[in-house]
Amino acid sequence: MSDDVFREVLSRGHNPRGKAPRHFADMTDDEASETVAGLDIPRFRAKQLASHYYSHGDVKAEDFTDFPKDLRQRIGDVFFPQLITEVTRQIADEGMTVKTLWRLFDGSRIESVLMRYPRRATLCISSQVGCGMACPFCATGHLGLTRNMSTGEILEQVRVAARTMRDGGMAGGPGRLSNVVFMGMGEPMANYRSVLAAVRRICAPAPDGFGISARNITISTVGVVPGIRKLAGEGLPVRLAVSLHAAGDELRDELVPMNRKFDTTKVLDAAHDYYKASGRRVSIEYALMRGINDQPEHATLLAKRLNHYGDDWAHVNPIPLNPIEGSRWTASKPEDERRFLDILHRSGITATLRDTRGSDIDGACGQLAAKVEDSSTE
Ligand code: SAH
Repeated sequence: MSDDVFREVLSRGHNPRGKAPRHFADMTDDEASETVAGLDIPRFRAKQLASHYYSHGDVKAEDFTDFPKDLRQRIGDVFFPQLITEVTRQIADEGMTVKTLWRLFDGSRIESVLMRYPRRATLCISSQVGCGMACPFCATGHLGLTRNMSTGEILEQVRVAARTMRDGGMAGGPGRLSNVVFMGMGEPMANYRSVLAAVRRICAPAPDGFGISARNITISTVGVVPGIRKLAGEGLPVRLAVSLHAAGDELRDELVPMNRKFDTTKVLDAAHDYYKASGRRVSIEYALMRGINDQPEHATLLAKRLNHYGDDWAHVNPIPLNPIEGSRWTASKPEDERRFLDILHRSGITATLRDTRGSDIDGACGQLAAKVEDSSTE
């Protein structure tokens, strides 16, 4: 039953406008060496392409001086079609937060947000155009799902951000992209195959990947249980985040419609099993909504549900709700926020209030809705 639901969710990501062009980032090592061989170039040269792409973030084949000049154009055409094109870039937090709106090959719009902190730089990326999960307080949820993104489209967001950091394109001078979170547009578990292939490339050491530690990659889900279970079997120490927002089924049915398929018991069971399999503490995301889920009884129930499984396996991230246009929900009062955290702490739960970077540029959680409408192509 649940597998059927999962398959149904997956199949909805089919793109009526066709597939994104195949890119070097979409290819397995074997596919890349096959494709290289097809151009009458020795297979081993696929490694050189990997070094250009993953180690240096280069896609301009005309500058690949280690390849014969007369081949570079073909290499560019075959391996590096432009998958994402910057439409706008918005800057907040004194240059420490940068939100980029991208246009994809079919005119679709997606966003990513790069956030720099004293000791890390985190990129929040999208995995679908829109989202089919329909959470009523989330701007992306209001868009509905257009399509799944390809592995190449997902990885291109990472490549550009890694280069931006390296080249000093952000306030604070040159640095390194250290963390990636799948918390932009889309439900990663509903695009499992492409997301997982992207995760493997993000964490593979250069030149096979971007060399970002799997421990610094977070996959966030509304609670698509078969996806959580599948991920647990991959043996990757990535962090799992579950968007819980309510600890009881009646309220969660309303806030996270997917709860009607996978209820809080199924989701928490799967999250705890993920913790056991991976050894990684699970993040529980909880957007605090005034008068809806932020009262003492909600905190008490959350603590009870988490403590049911034992100690210290989860870390709660209460997020002050970022109000979105046309939504009837607003952020909690500061005193309710504090009280909510206090109750969790007193019950032995680790919890830290999430900061809301980029809220003035609609870059904060749930605000990524790609407002700019433009179907022109270049
Ligand atoms: N679909 C995945 C990935 C999106 S992550 C998921 O739901 O986990 C985005 C996070 O921001 C989720 O925890 C989501 O519930 C939360 N969110 C959505 N809208 C929000 C809003 N208006 N204010 C604060 N958090 C929000």
